[in-house]
Amino acid sequence: MITHTGGCHCGRVRFEVIAPARIAVTECDCSICSKAGYLHLIVPGDCFTLVSGREVLTRYTFNTGTAKHLFCSVCGVKSFYVPRSHPDGFSVNARCLDPGTVESMTVRPFNGKDWEQARSEYKDE
Ligand SMILES: [Zn+2]
Repeated sequence: MITHTGGCHCGRVRFEVIAPARIAVTECDCSICSKAGYLHLIVPGDCFTLVSGREVLTRYTFNTGTAKHLFCSVCGVKSFYVPRSHPDGFSVNARCLDPGTVESMTVRPFNGKDWEQARSEYKDE
């Protein structure tokens, strides 16, 4: 396990996340992820630290309201959020990690359009 760093486009939102150097990420086809091209790196709550930018984060919720979609109000990039599938953890956007620490990335699909069904079949690693 190593510490990756990352953040939004304008640099106001910065975070650290503890995860393997070879990460497995999820590409979800739900209504919001497919439009954003979001790649999920799911981590427990204590593996994520928001370093800066709390004051510029804007929250967006829809449907069940469980997921707290957080994005930078300056540049609009959603670099992490609290997902419905893991309300006690974080989903980091693998596209927002700084280059240099990720040795490899495998992408697996998640059928978020049929969320209830997909979640019941989804196995955490
Ligand atoms: Zn920003």
